Amino acid sequence: MLPPGLMQPPAAATAVPPSDAQWAQLLQAARAARAMAYAPYSQFAVGAALLDEHGRVHAGCNVENAAYPQGQCAEASAIAQLVLAGGRRILAVVVVGVTEPRLDAAAGAGADRAAAGLAVTPCGGCRQRLREFAADDTPVWSADLQSVRARFTLGFLLPASFGPAHLASRPGHLP
Ligand SMILES: [Zn+2]
Repeated sequence: MLPPGLMQPPAAATAVPPSDAQWAQLLQAARAARAMAYAPYSQFAVGAALLDEHGRVHAGCNVENAAYPQGQCAEASAIAQLVLAGGRRILAVVVVGVTEPRLDAAAGAGADRAAAGLAVTPCGGCRQRLREFAADDTPVWSADLQSVRARFTLGFLLPASFGPAHLASRPGHLP
C-alpha cells in the first residue's frame, strides 16, 4: 500500500490570490532562506519560498556541491520542505536573488532595470519542478533584498507545459 501522498495528484484548481500579509511572509521567508544558502562556488545565493494549500510557507536555499552538477536550487529545496510537511499544492512562489548592475546599463530602453541588475527567475528545471504542484496562473515573484523586481505567472514562465494531467490515465494517477 502506497502512502497517501503518493496517490494524490496535485489539484489544478484556481486558488484565491495570496493576501498582502502572505506575500510579506513569503518575501521574508525567501530572504531569510537566501541568507542561509550554501554557495561557496558561485557566490550566488538564492532563497525561495512557497505558499501551500494550507496557508503555510515553506522555504529553501540553494545548496552547491564540489561536484558542480550535484548542486540543488533553492526552489527544489523549498519543494522538498513543502512535500515533507504534507503540502501538495503551490499557490504562490517567491524567489530572491541579488544581481550586480550590468556594465552596459548606460543607455537605452530598460537602462533602469539593467542598472539595478537582472531580476532572478527560476531556472528552466525549477519551472518544471514547480509545475508539478502549481497551475498556470500560480504567481511567481522575483525579488531582491529591497523590493519585488518582477511578477510573473508560472504559465508565462513555462508555457504549454507538461504536467501530471498528461499521466492521469496511468496506473497510480487519479484523473
Ligand atoms: Zn533551478
